[in-house]
Formats: sequence, C-alpha cells, structure tokens
Amino acid sequence: MGAAASVSQEDAKKYPQYHILGGDAEFEKLKGEDGTVARDKYQDPYLKYGGSYKGDPKDTPDFNYVTFESIPTFGPEHKSLMAKTLTPELFEKLKDVKSSKGYTLSNAIMTGVVTPHLGVGVTAGDEECWDLFKDLFYPVIKGWHGYDAATSKHPMDLDPSKLVFTDEQKETFNKYVVSTRIRAARNISGFSLPTGATEADRAGVEEVLKQTFSGLSGELAGTYYELGSLTEEQTKFLLERGFLFQIPTARNLLTGAGAARSWPNNRGIFHNEAQTALAWVNEEDHCRIISMELGGNIPSVFSRFCDLSNAIKASAEANNTKLMWNETLGFLGTCPSNLGTGLRASVMVVLPEFNKLMSSENHADKELLETVCAAFDLQPRGSAGEHSAAEGGKFDVSNKQRLGFSEVQLVQKMIDGVTRVIELEQKLAAGATPDEIRAIIAKPAEEAAPAATEAPAEAPAADAAATEAAPAATEEPAK
Ligand code: ADP
Ligand code: MG
Repeated sequence: MGAAASVSQEDAKKYPQYHILGGDAEFEKLKGEDGTVARDKYQDPYLKYGGSYKGDPKDTPDFNYVTFESIPTFGPEHKSLMAKTLTPELFEKLKDVKSSKGYTLSNAIMTGVVTPHLGVGVTAGDEECWDLFKDLFYPVIKGWHGYDAATSKHPMDLDPSKLVFTDEQKETFNKYVVSTRIRAARNISGFSLPTGATEADRAGVEEVLKQTFSGLSGELAGTYYELGSLTEEQTKFLLERGFLFQIPTARNLLTGAGAARSWPNNRGIFHNEAQTALAWVNEEDHCRIISMELGGNIPSVFSRFCDLSNAIKASAEANNTKLMWNETLGFLGTCPSNLGTGLRASVMVVLPEFNKLMSSENHADKELLETVCAAFDLQPRGSAGEHSAAEGGKFDVSNKQRLGFSEVQLVQKMIDGVTRVIELEQKLAAGATPDEIRAIIAKPAEEAAPAATEAPAEAPAADAAATEAAPAATEEPAK
C-alpha cells in the first residue's frame, strides 16, 4: 500500500497515472542509479495542486489516490462546478467524512483537481456518497441540471406504451432519420462504483451482469465479451461498429477518478445477435445500456431499452440486491451529469439546410440549429459523437435534460422537438430565411405548429423552471 516512490520506464509507459511528460528522453534525464525515476523528480500532475500520496486502501500497483489535507490550490484552469462550489469552509466541513466503504472527499474531488478542464469535476465512489457529500453534490447538480435536489422529486416511467408517435410523425421520421439510439447508466446497490471499487466489487458486478446477459432470451439474447481476452478479430469487429470502450488516457475522467485501476480486468461488452441491444460493464458505471437500430422507429428502440433495463433490475433482485436509485436523484451512478434518468435519446437526422448554414459567415445563422434545438430542450452533436462534424448533413439530435423528467417524458420531448426541427428544415428548403425561422421559434408552440407537438398529459407544470436554469449543455469530454 502507499504510493510508488519511483517509477520504472515500463510503468511510465503502461499506466496513465505514471506518464512522464517528455517521454523516454525525459525519463533518461531523470533516472537514478536503479534505473527508475523518483516521483518527486518530475512534475507529477497529481501532486501539482497541493495533494500528497498518503496511501489509500484502494491504491493498486497501477494507481495511487491523492489526499488533500487542505483545499486544493485551484487556478483559472479549473472550470468545474466542483471547483466553484468547494469553499475552504465546505472543505473543512467534509474533509474527514468517509463512506462506510472508505470513499473520502479527497477521492471525490481528485479527478476535478488533476483534470481541471472537466465541467463537473466530482465523482461518487458508492451509493452512500450521494447523501454524505450532498453539501457539495447538490449545488453541482443545481448548476448542471437546474434541479433543486433539496426540494424536488424525480419521476421514473419506463412504460413504452405511453409514448405518442403519430402516423404522421412516423412518416416524417422515416424520411429524415437514419438511426436511433437510447442509452443510460445502471448501477447495482451494495457494490462500490468503479471510482471506489475493490477487485471484489468489480468481480461481483460482472457476475450479476453476466447472469443478466445469459438470462436474456428472444430478441435480446447475445454474447458477452471480456475486454481482457478479446481476440484481434473481435476487437476489430467491435471497433468498427463503435461498440468498444475508449481506452483510459492520462488525462480523462476515468483515470483521474481511479476508475481505470486494474484495467481491463472485469470489464466487458455485451451485444445481442442483431446488435440492437448493447451493454458496457465496469467502465465509468457498473453498466451502460444502449438500445439502437437503423431508422426512426423510436417506440421500438425505447421499448427494447426498457426491456434491457427491466432485465438488469430483475437480475439484481434475484441476487438479493437492487439498482441504485432514490426518489430525489433517480438512478445513481458515478457522475452527477448522469443522474435521474441518465437517459440520452438521440436520432441521426439528415438536415441539409441547417448544415449549409453551419458554414455561414453570420454567427447567428451558423448557430441556427443550436438555437432551434435549445428552444425545444434538444442538443445537436456531429455525426461521430460530441464535438464532431456533421458528415453529409447528418446530426445527432438528443434530449438535453436528464433529471427531473421521466424517461417517457424525455423521449416524448425528443420526438416532438425533432418533429419541429424537421418542419423548420422543410421551411428552410422552401425558401424561409434564418430570421423567419428565429421568429417562428420565438412564438409559443401552439401558434407555430398546431399538430403533433402536444406534451404528454403527465408533464409537470414546472418544466420551464428546470429548463431555464439548465447550463449550456457542455457535457464532460470523452464520455
Ligand atoms: P453518449 O455520451 O450518449 O455515449 P457520444 O456523443 O459519446 O454519446 O457518442 C457515442 C457514439 O454513439 C458515437 O459514435 C455516435 O456517433 C454514436 N451515436 C449517437 N447517436 C446515434 C444514433 N442515433 N445512431 C447511431 N449512432 C449514434
Ligand atoms: Mg459520450
């Protein structure tokens, strides 16, 4: 236990935490007689902001947690809500708080300290943390989701029969939508989250999930691949389809939070025969579930998503546990950005007219799709994930909110919002100017489009408050 006092050349290459800026050349310069480099010889990004290696029971040969005895020295590079929320008083109040599984404030803030560009910057190590550290978590949640956890209740609704998808919408989506995808995180109560997990936690989680997968039948039946024993052929197959995890790097959330320890042990990927149902095991959360298919049949994708979610719930219960969930924060996991439903329902939709405007000289016109999407609580992304370009005018458009709305409400908002976006695309194609489009979205919804935009009956009246306070959707990079 305790921190490695020095680093071998092999470890400096192999483990993200031990990377030496300057690589081999720098290593040669710094190495001592025994051929290793003492940790205090180089600028260790993990120690740069005032922490030290005190030894943590969760330390592994490839990763050491940092302890902060006093508040980290935050600089202007620290962009996270954690850094903005953590005052010296709050630090003092929470610094000796520890969950029964041994997760501390230092553990929780570490990734936000060493990876200062992150937007959230704080992680939970187990279910208990959400309550123990709520003085820090709740303001972060408020800043990210515009949701007041002290006074609000989060609804859950996984009943696909409640979705309204009219024949007219079906026809429109068939024309414009290339594919649909819905994903969310699920974690199993009783096991530490990947940020705080022991080997036994990871193995236990994998065991429960393997049972889930082997119990799936019909359309959902498929194969589980262990990340550590993939053949080259399997790796290629999974990579080509975009099913494989990102490898943890020196500067991403997973590494900085200790969630990449003992990589790739007990990590894996499941997919059904048709590759329309997928699950990731022990990446950032215990499980990420994904339902996807070609075309724009949203009810079909959502229905499969609900089946997958229910199967994991049933399997957890068969193992005398349950999914991490409470009525204040909904589904609980590692990162505050994925609380609530944790659901992102996206369509790849072809919008050539909006795409033409992306290269406009006029800033407002360039941002027209962004503006239009924001008006319907939607977020546009490029065709290869966050921060990518829209190849062939193909955009990934999804719900922006995660918390305070049920799954049904969010998928319905996506359906109705995308319907409106497509109507506006058609108006542009018929010669409408960007100014005319902006004028249309400035009007109340009923006036602008009478049909097909009705909100579900159970939508709470307080929607607007949550929406207004939501931040400009700057999701954590590399998730
Ligand atoms: P998330 O955070 O939901 O996992 P990302 O933006 O990181 O989403 O994208 C993950 C991958 O999923 C990317 O390769 C992206 O192109 C793909 N993807 C997202 N939405 C769809 C969709 N509707 N159809 C097909 N692929 C999609
Ligand atoms: Mg992502």
